[in-house]
Amino acid sequence: MMENLKRFFINGEWVDPISDQTMLVINPATEEQIGTVALGNASDVDLAVEAASAAFDQFSQTTKMDRLDLLKSVMVITERRLEDLAQAMRMEMGAPITMARSSQADAAIGHLQGFIDALEEHNERAKLKNGDLMVHEPVGVCGLITPWNWPINQITLKVLPALATGCTCILKPSEHTPISAMIYAEILDEAGYPKGVFNLINGEGPVVGAALSRHPDIQMMSFTGSTRAGTAVTCDAADTVKRVTLELGGKSPNLVFADCDLEERVNASVEECMFNTGQSCDAPTRLLVERACYDDVVRIAKRAAEETDVGDPADEGDHIGPLFDKIQYERVQRMIKVGIDEGATLLAGGMGKPEGVDKGWFVKPTIFSDVSNDMRIAQEEIFGPVLVIIPFEDESEAIAIANDTPYGLAAYLQTGDTERKERVAARLKAGAVHINGAGIEYGTPFGGYKQSGNGREGGLMGLEDYLETKTLHGLD
Ligand code: NAD
Repeated sequence: MMENLKRFFINGEWVDPISDQTMLVINPATEEQIGTVALGNASDVDLAVEAASAAFDQFSQTTKMDRLDLLKSVMVITERRLEDLAQAMRMEMGAPITMARSSQADAAIGHLQGFIDALEEHNERAKLKNGDLMVHEPVGVCGLITPWNWPINQITLKVLPALATGCTCILKPSEHTPISAMIYAEILDEAGYPKGVFNLINGEGPVVGAALSRHPDIQMMSFTGSTRAGTAVTCDAADTVKRVTLELGGKSPNLVFADCDLEERVNASVEECMFNTGQSCDAPTRLLVERACYDDVVRIAKRAAEETDVGDPADEGDHIGPLFDKIQYERVQRMIKVGIDEGATLLAGGMGKPEGVDKGWFVKPTIFSDVSNDMRIAQEEIFGPVLVIIPFEDESEAIAIANDTPYGLAAYLQTGDTERKERVAARLKAGAVHINGAGIEYGTPFGGYKQSGNGREGGLMGLEDYLETKTLHGLD
C-alpha cells in the first residue's frame, strides 16, 4: 500500500513521477522513518493539469444527482477507512489516536455530510426579480494546497466542494503528511470518479505549489497554510488572474471577564489552546484577562498547564502528542526563548522536552503571564502549546487588544453577562466568535478577517467559492 507514496494519482491511475526527488516521512513521536514520498516538479504538474482539463468537459456537465450519488459512495468508503485515516495522521503528524479518531478523521465524515446537505439545498438556477436568469457553473480546474496540521480536515474542505460542484482538481497536500492524503485518493478512486477528475501530486510548496499557482489552465487556487506561503500563491496566480481563496494563520484572542465561571472556563481555555499540541490555526493563544480576576486566572491556568499530559500518540487518552516535526520543535523553542528575553513571566513549562523524554518532538505545555500585546510572543503565531496571558482594565481595552493583530480568524469570549456577549461579539474582527466554549459545527462557513485570509470553507458558502456565475437573457 505504501508503494503509492512514491507515485502520484493522475488521470485515474497511480503513476511514477517524472521528478526523481524524494523525501523521508518521519514519525514525530519516535523519529523513525515510516515511508518515502516522491516530490514532483513542474512537468508532473503539467500532466495532472492536462488530465484535469480533459476531464472537465464531461464532469462539468454532470447533474447534481450524479454528483450527490458519488458523494454518497465516498461516505460509505470513508466510513470503512476511517481507522486507516486516523492511524495515518497518528503516525505522520503525531495526533494522539483518540483525537485522531474523534476529530482529525471525523472531519472527513462531518464535512462530507455538510457538503451533501448544502448541495441538496443549493439552487443552480435562479430567476432574478427583473426577469433575468442566473445560473451557477463549476469554475474549472482547481489547484488545492493543504497544510500538515489538520491534514484530512483541510483536504476534505477543498476537494469535496470542488467535486460537489463539478470542478476537476489537483491536490497538493503538505509534503509532511502524505499518507492520509494517499488514503484519501484511494477512497475517491474507489468511489468511481471518472479519470482525471481528481489528481494528487506530492511536492514542495515553492516547486509544485508555485507551478500550480502559475499554470494558465488552472482557474482557481484554494490554499490553506501560512500567511507567507498564501501571499506567494496570490502573487504567482496574479498573472493568470485566477480566483484565489486563502485560509491562513491566526493569533486568536480569548477574552476572560470576571463574571464568568472562572474555574471551568479557564481550565477549558487552556485545554483548547493546547489541543492538537497548539497546532491549530484558530487556537485561542492570547488569553486576555480582566484585571479584577487576573490573579485567580493566573493560578488556575498554571495548574491547568501543569496538569496537561504529554504522551505517546499511540496510547488512548486525552493527552497531547509531539509537534509534527523537528523544524516545528525548533521554531517553538526559539519563540519560548523570545518570550523569556522579552521579559514575560514564565508561568509554566519552558524550553526543552518534558522530563524523562529523550525521543520525539515533544514540548512542555507553556504559559507566559504579564505579557503585553506588543511583544513578539503576543503578535506572532507560535503554532505550539504556548499560551500568553495579557491583563486588561475594562471592556473597551479588551476589545482594542483583541483586535490589535494582523490576524482575524477566531475570537473567544468567556462571560456570564448576556448583554456583554452580543456587545463584545459585534466588535471583534474575527470570522468566528466562540462564547463560553461553544464550538463550530460541520457545514458552517469557516474563514477569517484581515490577514487570516479570504473566502469561507464548509457547507453552502464553501460550495459557492467553486462556482462561476452566468446570466442568461432571452431564454423562454
Ligand atoms: P505552509 O504555508 O508552510 O505550508 C502549507 C502548504 O503550502 C504546504 O502544502 C506547502 O507545501 C505549501 N507551500 C509552501 N510554500 C509555498 C509556496 N511558495 N507556493 C505554494 N505553496 C506553498 O504552512 P504549514 O506549516 O504547513 O501550516 C501551518 C500554517 O497553516 C499555520 O500558519 C496555520 O495557521 C495555517 N492554517 C490555517 C488554517 C485556516 O483554515 N485558516 C487551517 C490550518 C492551518
